[in-house]
Amino acid sequence: MSSTSHIDQLLAEAGSALKSAATVSEVGEINIRYLGRKGKLPEILKSLKELPADQRKSVGAAANKAKGKLGALVAERLGQLDESPVSNLDYTLPGQSNRIGRPHVLSATMAEMTAVFTRMGFATATGPEVETDQYNFGSLNFPEDHPARDMQDTFYLRQCDGLPAGLLLRTHTSNVQIREFEKRTPPLKIIAPGKVFRHEAVSTRAYCVFHQIEGFQVGENVTLGDLKGVLLAFCREFFSTDVKLRFRPSFFPFTEPSAEVDMSCLLCDGAGCLLCKYDGWLEILGCGMIDPNVMQAVGYDPEKLSGYAFGMGVERVTMLKRRITDIRLFYENDLRFLRQF
Ligand SMILES: [Zn+2]
Repeated sequence: MSSTSHIDQLLAEAGSALKSAATVSEVGEINIRYLGRKGKLPEILKSLKELPADQRKSVGAAANKAKGKLGALVAERLGQLDESPVSNLDYTLPGQSNRIGRPHVLSATMAEMTAVFTRMGFATATGPEVETDQYNFGSLNFPEDHPARDMQDTFYLRQCDGLPAGLLLRTHTSNVQIREFEKRTPPLKIIAPGKVFRHEAVSTRAYCVFHQIEGFQVGENVTLGDLKGVLLAFCREFFSTDVKLRFRPSFFPFTEPSAEVDMSCLLCDGAGCLLCKYDGWLEILGCGMIDPNVMQAVGYDPEKLSGYAFGMGVERVTMLKRRITDIRLFYENDLRFLRQF
């Protein structure tokens, strides 16, 4: 017998069954039992023709209404059950992006610089960051009383268990020069990228740790002209522009003659702007011909061999190329800064 009261009863029955259903598959069974092809409500609709004509309309309407209501209850219950994979997904929410890591801008720049020198035939070498006074200063012709040896500039290691006395954090990558000279026989052409340490006040332009790329070539008839050619080729390739270089006489204990090198300003090409402080030139590195004393100390004959060396600051070059105005940004690990590169 189908009647509207019977339909109400089915609906109440299905409703309480849904409430006690604890899993998605239980809800699925209830759905089939009441709403499936051979379910209780569709059966009522199929048997409408057996009813007296005056009841067909009201029973049909009640059965359809109950189907709609029960369908909504099933969906609601599925939404409440955690294991339902579909109901808990809101496809309208923005997706979660997986951020991919990348090399730090300094590492990337150092790799880029190394690649340029590699194409010019330089081999790459590294050396220790904790160094002896001899490799950091002595073999590089620093006199005993040179100001760079002063405690103001150099971090010395406190002597403790098992450590020999007089160790320091290298103040430049030039220690690699000496270590490679001892290992190899010229001709040689090497770059040495790495971290160096100076006891300096931190400012927008100076930090207590920074990176250098040291380069040197030793052989017969290596001249200042070779040095200028290598540096000009590097700058033009690395900065992708037709820069000019200017060599200013300078002094370093381990080179003679020594020079500081300026590059024509990347922004104004010499006319003067904020980047170059209206000078038209940007200082980028120090260099020179390797001092005969340094050669002699490692057993090279300065009468037969000659060589040049240069050292450039990776931070300085990165700041110029990427227009970064504060060196401290490199070390603060602020993702808003790092993600720009
Ligand atoms: Zn300028």
